[in-house]
Amino acid sequence: MPVTDCLFCKIVAKEIPAEIVLENDRALAFRDINPQAPTHVLVIPKEHHADAAALAAADDGLADDVLKAAHAVAVQEGVAEGGYRVVFNTGPGAGQTVFHVHAHVLGGRALTWPPG
Ligand code: C5P
Repeated sequence: MPVTDCLFCKIVAKEIPAEIVLENDRALAFRDINPQAPTHVLVIPKEHHADAAALAAADDGLADDVLKAAHAVAVQEGVAEGGYRVVFNTGPGAGQTVFHVHAHVLGGRALTWPPG
């Protein structure tokens, strides 16, 4: 069920515009409005789960679907061979600001380690 006042549920419902780059029955991928790399796409399950911990606890392979969609985005964006990063900020202490789980797919430039 969509969650009232969840920004990303509204993007799934097409109530808020987003530049969608991939969509299937279980996942949606759209460009981050504040990109941190030449490719910066957010991949979300259509079903609302607050964070990666909740997604991992979903018992129907949803986490698998999100990861597969993240890799498909990397291939589609042409960053799979050069190297890309998949990041789930999980919890406010890790910088999570939107509490509908999302994988950041980042690529298209050299990515340093450790992250900030
Ligand atoms: O991991 P975190 O929760 O901080 O990431 C949220 C991301 O959602 C940010 O990178 C932000 O730029 C992005 N965002 C977006 N479209 C919105 C609101 C936030 O792409 N309408």
